[in-house]
Amino acid sequence: MPPRPYILAETTWKAVKDTRFQVAVLPWGATEAHNYHLPYATDNIQCDHVAAEAARRAWEAGARVVVLPTIPFGVQTGQLDIPLCLNLNPSTQAAMLADLAHSLDVQAVPKLVILNGHGGNDFRQMIRELQPKVKCFLTAVSWYKVVDPKGHFQDLGDHAGELETSVMLHIAPDLVRPLSEAGDGREKKPRLAAMREGWAWAPRQWTKVSADTGIGDPRAATREKGAAYFSAAVEKIGRFLIDLSATDVKDLYVDPTKIK
Ligand SMILES: [Zn+2]
Repeated sequence: MPPRPYILAETTWKAVKDTRFQVAVLPWGATEAHNYHLPYATDNIQCDHVAAEAARRAWEAGARVVVLPTIPFGVQTGQLDIPLCLNLNPSTQAAMLADLAHSLDVQAVPKLVILNGHGGNDFRQMIRELQPKVKCFLTAVSWYKVVDPKGHFQDLGDHAGELETSVMLHIAPDLVRPLSEAGDGREKKPRLAAMREGWAWAPRQWTKVSADTGIGDPRAATREKGAAYFSAAVEKIGRFLIDLSATDVKDLYVDPTKIK
């Protein structure tokens, strides 16, 4: 495959020095167990593919976007008792984000999209704190929240379940073990009603919730479901990159009657 000009890891200074990039995309995943059948890099592989395909669509429409290397470690404080789930604390992530945003700021890249691929990562409070300190406009997208999974999958479990397994069957089928080897991803529910109803929150204690590290039954996953979900998500994210690239972030808001 020839080098893609919108993937920083594949491009060169020769190409970069003459391009005025409008939007940088920073994919941010995790390294963690995904039931018995998906690899530890599942979130990173998904982030890589979603970012690359969304950026390709934007680039071909004329938007100057660049995908930065994926950060492969996420927040895993609830999975520290699972071997090789590798944790970055939120405060460490905030420090990394600040350094990278500062680089882009100095280099006059005006917009940064954090493309999140891991449920334990949450960049919103980091952006609230960092945004007043940098000119670069900061925004975050969790790619698996862009399209409602309800229309695509029977089981809506959120970790190594039908969604992630289907997407991996589409983008990296060689890394998916036979589904006959997968656990059923059965999830224990909180004893406390307030937590079951979702208005009291605490991070899940992973090994107490799931026996196989999965949450959600992967066994109805198919490559076709993964392809359809992936393509619906990258279409919307690609459109967002095009629109963001063309938008003056000092003029983000409009009277609702003027929205087309
Ligand atoms: Zn995952």
